[in-house]
Amino acid sequence: MKILVINAGSSSLKYQLIDMDSETVLAKGLCERIGIDGSNLQHTNIAKDEKTKIEKPMKDHGDAIQMVIDALVDGEIGVISSMDEIGAVGHRVVHGAEEFADSCVITDAVMKALEKCVPLAPLHNPPNLIGIEACTKIMPKVPQIAVFDTAFHQTMPPKAFMYALPYEYYENDGIRKYGFHGTSHKYVSQKAAEFLGKPASELKIVTCHLGNGSSISAVDGGKCVDTSMGFTPLDGVPMGTRTGSMDPAVVTYLINQKGMDAKSVDTLMNKQSGVQGVSGVSSDFRDLSAAADEGNERAKLALDMFAYQVKKYIGSYAAAMGGIDAVVFTAGVGENDAQTRAAVTDGLDFLGIKVDADKNNTRGTVDISAADATVKTLVIPTNEELMIAIDTKRLVEG
Ligand code: ADP
Repeated sequence: MKILVINAGSSSLKYQLIDMDSETVLAKGLCERIGIDGSNLQHTNIAKDEKTKIEKPMKDHGDAIQMVIDALVDGEIGVISSMDEIGAVGHRVVHGAEEFADSCVITDAVMKALEKCVPLAPLHNPPNLIGIEACTKIMPKVPQIAVFDTAFHQTMPPKAFMYALPYEYYENDGIRKYGFHGTSHKYVSQKAAEFLGKPASELKIVTCHLGNGSSISAVDGGKCVDTSMGFTPLDGVPMGTRTGSMDPAVVTYLINQKGMDAKSVDTLMNKQSGVQGVSGVSSDFRDLSAAADEGNERAKLALDMFAYQVKKYIGSYAAAMGGIDAVVFTAGVGENDAQTRAAVTDGLDFLGIKVDADKNNTRGTVDISAADATVKTLVIPTNEELMIAIDTKRLVEG
């Protein structure tokens, strides 16, 4: 079966066509500037290793999907002979709230339930829904599946997801921890179990998705029991430009003492903070390492703060699960930044976590634990598109 994976943003749309018999990507690409001047499609035919850029007006996501299909079936740059070869479409949907604890086949009732989730992710869910509507119109006979960033975390117990606000704020407004990056945490925890040759049901794993946005999850017996992101993706460890957790009273201080309004505090916390805000250098860990190596103290501080907070999550999740069998690093920083992995795991030998310096400098799916470590430390490249396709196939095949 061939599955089209769609990740629709407000003015962009990413796609991959995956052949599920071999789990290989046939084509991938990106539509940019949808509804704005200068719309274009960048399409890659993987087998030919050929990139094509097509500039053509796209007034909406419907135009974009049509251009994607045209590229996929094109005689020169395409990879399939007709649209009928697409067995199903898997859509990334950011927020599924408490309604969706698993991926699901999209029906009219599901679309209505998804509309209800919009207030929880006002920037992300609307474009996701527009993408679904556009695909349904163009491919009415092809099953459409929604895969949620939040679903994997729905197994968290109330003691982990509740905030200590008066209970009615949870009941009436759904204010609680939801967690994000669920597709990635699910994928790498499953891959870790495969890699270790043990059933996921027997493993306690801490998955560290460290990228531009970062989150850490405690996965006990294959189920998420806690995660560092919260009501929104702002919570947890410091990120590229996001604060991560801090005393919430900082917000009221900024409003009351500094005269800031809600919008400017929101921008400050999401776009101007994190390792970028602390260092004043960059949100990119490569730039920070380079600056720290040249003696930039604030770049070093930002890196130290990040590693310290990730380390604390590993310790607290080992406590929450009553033990730990494996730590998994993934995403841009987790997969590529050996220095950060070394800093995060440094001093955790009392838990049995110990990294071998040489192994830590290798790439791909690797076990970087020292010979005498009792906890495995693994690097596993994430693949959210493949996870979406795997879930889509599972649901289509019933
Ligand atoms: P996103 O959260 O946007 O999906 P990614 O998971 O792609 O982000 O991670 C992007 C980040 O990964 C970059 O900002 C950069 O800090 C980091 N990164 C990528 N490659 C390296 C590298 N070789 N060394 C250190 N950091 C890296």
